[in-house]
Amino acid sequence: MIKGFLSIFTIALLAISGCTENNINTNYKGNTEPLKQNSYIKLPLGSVKPDGWLKDQLKAQAAGLTGNIDDFWPDLLNSAWRGCTGDAWERGPYFLDGLVPLAYLLDDEKLKDKVKAWIEPILASSSDSGWYGPVKNKDRWPLAVANKVLMQYYEATSDQRALDVLKKYFRYILDTPPDWPDKDWRGVRAMENAVTGYWLYRQTGEKWILESIRSIQENSSDWTSYYEKFPWDSVAVADHKIPLQWKEDGLTAHVVNNAMAIKYPGLWYQQSKDGRYKKAVFAGIEKYDSYHGQAGGRFSGDEHLSGNTPDRGTELCSVVEYMYSLEELYAIFGDNSIADRLELLTFNSLPGTITPDMWAHQYDQQSNQVLVTGAKRAWSSNGDYSNIYGLMPNFACCLANMHQGWPKFSENLWMATNDNGLVAVAYSPSIVKAKVGKGKEITIREVTEYPFKGGIKLIIGTADAVKFPLYLRVPEWADQIVFSFRGKTVTGRAGETVRLTQRWVDGDEITFSVPMKIRLEERFNNSVSMLRGPLYLSLRIKKEYRSVKINYDNFGYKGSIDWEIYPLSPWNYGLMADKNNPGRGIEVTENPVTIFPFADKGDMVWNADSGKYIVWKKDAAVVVTARGMKIPEWTLKNNSADLPPLSPVKPEGVTEVIELVPYGSAKLRITEFPVIDLTQVQDVIR
Ligand SMILES: [Zn+2]
Repeated sequence: MIKGFLSIFTIALLAISGCTENNINTNYKGNTEPLKQNSYIKLPLGSVKPDGWLKDQLKAQAAGLTGNIDDFWPDLLNSAWRGCTGDAWERGPYFLDGLVPLAYLLDDEKLKDKVKAWIEPILASSSDSGWYGPVKNKDRWPLAVANKVLMQYYEATSDQRALDVLKKYFRYILDTPPDWPDKDWRGVRAMENAVTGYWLYRQTGEKWILESIRSIQENSSDWTSYYEKFPWDSVAVADHKIPLQWKEDGLTAHVVNNAMAIKYPGLWYQQSKDGRYKKAVFAGIEKYDSYHGQAGGRFSGDEHLSGNTPDRGTELCSVVEYMYSLEELYAIFGDNSIADRLELLTFNSLPGTITPDMWAHQYDQQSNQVLVTGAKRAWSSNGDYSNIYGLMPNFACCLANMHQGWPKFSENLWMATNDNGLVAVAYSPSIVKAKVGKGKEITIREVTEYPFKGGIKLIIGTADAVKFPLYLRVPEWADQIVFSFRGKTVTGRAGETVRLTQRWVDGDEITFSVPMKIRLEERFNNSVSMLRGPLYLSLRIKKEYRSVKINYDNFGYKGSIDWEIYPLSPWNYGLMADKNNPGRGIEVTENPVTIFPFADKGDMVWNADSGKYIVWKKDAAVVVTARGMKIPEWTLKNNSADLPPLSPVKPEGVTEVIELVPYGSAKLRITEFPVIDLTQVQDVIR
């Protein structure tokens, strides 16, 4: 820990990990005894609002599937959760888990009206026993999702009825025999209820709620032992031992369950205070990376854990659930590796698997994705149509569940600290309005085009001068960041969180630049991925979108929603990368992030395509030129790019200039490149 004081301004700088313990935030409700204090406290929904490109992204989402899908998809249109006679299981709550935060983050009256139409029947459904939701549903699993919906709704509206429904349901859990079989969704996902349970305890201070959570923890799937043993390793992948059913052991190999469960030992750590549970979380993340790791911070699962080769798919549900798990885990542990990964998922894996207008999504995305079609694939258990961009490719869970990704990321950009300050969790344009110090309300406007550009300016707005600590994260991949304010500078090193304590006045500015140095990450078969800041860079492939009709009529929706994508230019390039000097020979062009903003619809931030999507945007926000060489023997296999040949690869062709764009913008892509053996090439990079 470094601690220093600069001049009379009382600037403290230190590297922290949960360093704000021993203080209690007097503005926001954090964990109290007998729970362990968390590193940070999530701010109520509505405290952090998106701005700049992020607001455009959320507007695009509102104009896309999220703002429209419940008007024509029968499972939502006729959902029993909104008082009709249709689907009574997870789809309604999944959708609301994204619609509710989106409506209140955008202050969109039309979306708020939609929320009301769903929420009123849910609030009215609470029965004497405490059970709620559609009468015909007898399964506890969809209620675990609905709990999170009511939690967010309460934060945004202070509607006491939502709190009452939740309290009655947690009383129901305590008063009835445990029903969390580990052979069913409600059992393997049982601790999802604990997210709301701990929140409810923080709101009310009623200790019996902790006994409800203990009952869930002790009677549901033991994910902690799972992460300690981690049976589904590389040997299990190679020997085809990963179970592929949707019952029994298959549920522990199911990618979405894994993405949700990684937070469960962390949640229980708050109550058990036993380091074993903290260790299990970080061991689990490490094992995902080792055995199933993919570019973009995610792990594979199509739809069961699928190994670490770049031809394997990752289901969209697992991306948004992993993001949410990381948001919860960051508040608990305050470990910056968690926030770094959250940015990787948000800025790569999430936009990479959804079209820029948020009208079509994939079920499975690939790091090396060179053909998006319904042709036969080597998925572990998914159907052939899993990687087209469409309305409902393969199965409809992602169509219902995808909506939470961007809104929840936005609401977690800032959190409160135990010493009445604020911490920047992840960087993006935003405005936070929150209470600091002894209850003073301030705003911080974050002006930036991060992650496309490195510059960030924080502008403080306050009626009166107010002293509070401001915590700023330095990503582990950044060497250091120099923070400037009032003519002073403070330097934070990789992975640290810097604390600036000041008597801040209106208009104070903190400026800094996150270094956007090009770097390489080693991947399968000695291949490499290139990164710039938190953005993975993928080969730009010319492409053709073909509208397809798969086996349903899109519920009468008139427009084209299902797309296959075919490559029109070669993709089989090796990268001529200098591992000792990754930036050598690389040229970076930063383009405007938003070019054709639609006043009411938002801009298509993640666009980069020729073909269908060129009408919306001239070019990707970042374009990088590098040098590459075709590898003739690297071809398609099972309708995916074959595994990259072992690097270094002997050069056989001519040096070419190739273009790379952000992974999130590249709907066809190579992201794990074989590396050409530079020692055998003359004058490659000048
Ligand atoms: Zn899904």
